[in-house]
Amino acid sequence: MVDSSEPVAAMVARAVGIVGRTHVLTDPDLTASRSVDWTGRFRARPAPVVRPGRVAEVAALVAAARELGVALVPQGGNTGLVGGAVPLDGGVVVDLTRFDGVDDIDATSGQLTAGAGATIGAVQAAAAAAGWQYGVDWSARDTATVGGSVATDAGGLRFIRHGGTRRQLLGVEAVLGTSEVISHLPAVEKDNTGYDLGALLCGSEGTLGLVTRARLRLVPPRAPASCVLVAFGSIGSAVSAATTLRREVVELEAVELMVDAGLALVCSSMGLMVPFATPAPATLLVEVASRADPHALLDGVLTSMDGVVEVVVATDERQRRELWRYRELHTEAIARVGPAHKLDVTLPPRSLADFVTEVPELVASVAPEARTWCFGHAGDGNVHVNVTGIEPGDDSVDEAVLVDVADRGGSISAEHGIGRAKRRWLHLARGPADVSAMVAVKRALDPDGICNPGVLLPSGS
Ligand SMILES: Cc1cc2nc3c(=O)[nH]c(=O)nc-3n(C[C@H](O)[C@H](O)[C@H](O)COP(=O)(O)OP(=O)(O)OC[C@H]3O[C@@H](n4cnc5c(N)ncnc54)[C@H](O)[C@@H]3O)c2cc1C
Repeated sequence: MVDSSEPVAAMVARAVGIVGRTHVLTDPDLTASRSVDWTGRFRARPAPVVRPGRVAEVAALVAAARELGVALVPQGGNTGLVGGAVPLDGGVVVDLTRFDGVDDIDATSGQLTAGAGATIGAVQAAAAAAGWQYGVDWSARDTATVGGSVATDAGGLRFIRHGGTRRQLLGVEAVLGTSEVISHLPAVEKDNTGYDLGALLCGSEGTLGLVTRARLRLVPPRAPASCVLVAFGSIGSAVSAATTLRREVVELEAVELMVDAGLALVCSSMGLMVPFATPAPATLLVEVASRADPHALLDGVLTSMDGVVEVVVATDERQRRELWRYRELHTEAIARVGPAHKLDVTLPPRSLADFVTEVPELVASVAPEARTWCFGHAGDGNVHVNVTGIEPGDDSVDEAVLVDVADRGGSISAEHGIGRAKRRWLHLARGPADVSAMVAVKRALDPDGICNPGVLLPSGS
């Protein structure tokens, strides 16, 4: 059964008038998958799904939702990992995937405008066709959307090189919770005309409004990359190698960390060959791109590093893609074990190795039956702690790990956002004045609290 409370039923009727019957889905067979998150941890009763295709339609939907007091849950590819796009507080899902155009491509300055529903893969393809590259990339690229990536300030595999989504964002078009349309999609690189509303919406997780388009900055394409898998004798030596690589190799594109249990799981569950003769406690995937000989460049640095046990080098593009599969398939392999509690955290470099080494023990002390899987973006201190074998609603492990991260000076969210999964612990990352400033912004831009209630901000705010 979909939510058929009186206000929601009235909203569905209004939505049919705004976007047309074919773009309002109420059959649970069609909507159920939009009411559960990618991990399967967050499941709501199926909610109606409305699919606007024009910004004026989004504005009319927001105006109707205000009038009727109905929550709107923006959704793109539904690949988010913190339960932010799941209608757990009821209301209506607003699916923005019909905004899938990529246009206004400026090959001279390296910019384009993408609809909120365009996938990251589509933006990358458009950028490449114009002789540029989009600087943000991750394995859900063919499903995750521009709107979702702006809303979560997605980071990804090239963060050390190009930064996250916020750094690529020149401006947005969006419908605020007031139903007003803001639109600033500048064609120029330098523009400091007051408040950066795009940056404000970036990372707001749908709580201030619905993004419909984004103006994105592109980066120069890089020459063919060199990609290696390096096995280390300890997590400590892998982490300190990541620091050395950052300092010594300006051409560094990615440094990704895997530990033995995760790599073994990926191999067994996804049918990949074990990459090393002997299993190693930690592995780095390192990629560089340079006009100089990237292999020579890496050889020099790797031979000077402590703790290197074995190196596997990709000599062509096919092998490069194969090496990336060891890292990119972690999320899927873990999902096959069961719904994971996803704790996407960042540690200061000095604490990263100890944290990765000690966190399985900490988890076991709270939930002896749980399994802990760690992997992540070692170059920027971002580790994904995935815990399987605990009930979706039991957050005692989340509490222990997030408090530990905060005690070590880290952040409880690196790139996935706070969503529903972590909002109870926002205070570990942001002080009371920060939170009340966020609440004040929310009240100004979404006075009736209809934009994604229950996400990011503490309950009752
Ligand atoms: C296999 C896998 C690997 C991943 N790897 C990474 C990674 O390396 N780095 C990383 O950062 N993330 C990663 N993610 C997480 C996810 O892909 C990102 O969070 C992505 O930005 C979500 O985009 P989406 O379109 O799927 O958004 P959704 O999941 O649909 O929504 C995410 C949030 O954004 C809001 N939202 C969506 N669209 C809009 C809009 N148009 N306007 C306003 N709010 C909106 C939603 O309400 C929700 O709060 C991964 C996910 C998977 C499944």
